[in-house]
Amino acid sequence: MAARIIDGKKIAGLTRTDIAARAAMLEAETGVKPGLAVIIVGNDPASQVYVRNKKRACEEAGMYSVVVEMPADTTQAELMKQIEQLKKDEKVHGILVQLPLPKHLDEETVIAAIPPEKDVDAFHPANTGKIMIGDYDFLPCTPAGVMKLLEYENIEISGKECVVVGRSNIVGKPQAMLLLHANGTVTVCHSKTKDLAQVTRRADILVVAIGRANFITGDMIKPGAVVIDVGMNRLEDKKLCGDVDFASCSQIAGAITPVPGGVGPMTITMLLENTLTAAKKAAGKKL
Ligand code: NAP
Repeated sequence: MAARIIDGKKIAGLTRTDIAARAAMLEAETGVKPGLAVIIVGNDPASQVYVRNKKRACEEAGMYSVVVEMPADTTQAELMKQIEQLKKDEKVHGILVQLPLPKHLDEETVIAAIPPEKDVDAFHPANTGKIMIGDYDFLPCTPAGVMKLLEYENIEISGKECVVVGRSNIVGKPQAMLLLHANGTVTVCHSKTKDLAQVTRRADILVVAIGRANFITGDMIKPGAVVIDVGMNRLEDKKLCGDVDFASCSQIAGAITPVPGGVGPMTITMLLENTLTAAKKAAGKKL
């Protein structure tokens, strides 16, 4: 039987409507309009699209939004100065530096320069540490979006075998921690994992974030499993596809996210949620 399709676009739309309502309520009660600043350095076309989408999503949610465009030859000192200015800007509650940065800039130093209370990507080491101990203000947007999809679909995590394929700092590792905090039994796989299929076949919930088109095939999953595909890969014909081979996996899984229209729309949604959280904290409101 074909798997149930988890409609990330629909869930993102409903969540954004709710965020917009809560943002309007905050503004009405306190005069604080949530605000997000995005810094983009250089002119990478994919990054430009992501930044445009973030700005539009902010505006649609009734939030203040500013994009700071800096040339590709921006120096580290110039970028740090810009962050310094945004740190002091009371209209800005969230600061995001679009990654990747041009090679001559040091990403770690840049991330560490964003104050943790305005770090709506949750990449600052202080926020990363909080995720580890399960006491957090902000969650990294993509893993948080995955958790929201599971919650919306009423998928029980407690006691389930959860397998995360990929261990990046922005997706795989925090995803594993969030599933662990929700009482899943979590295994993390990576490029050195031996017999990956044997591990993925154990998963009741499989989250894949590796950046390899159609890599996970139907024979690698357990019948009835929930399969969450974080991957976003551009094929030669410019079509977008995930890390999961949808055609074969959707015949075996119980529920599955498509690409596009699965995890992708949730990532910006959770960025809006984090911006609202930052604004509430700035306004002195309880979360
Ligand atoms: P990344 O930093 O490149 O990390 C990839 C991870 O996958 C690494 O841990 C790597 O293992 C592992 N891996 C690579 N090949 C593997 C293999 N053959 N078997 C098992 N593990 C393998 O990537 P990322 O930033 O986490 O992104 C992953 C994917 O998600 C990409 O397609 C990206 O575009 C997408 N993404 C989507 C969203 C969204 O909003 N939907 C957001 C972020 C990322 P090692 O650690 O051993 O090298």
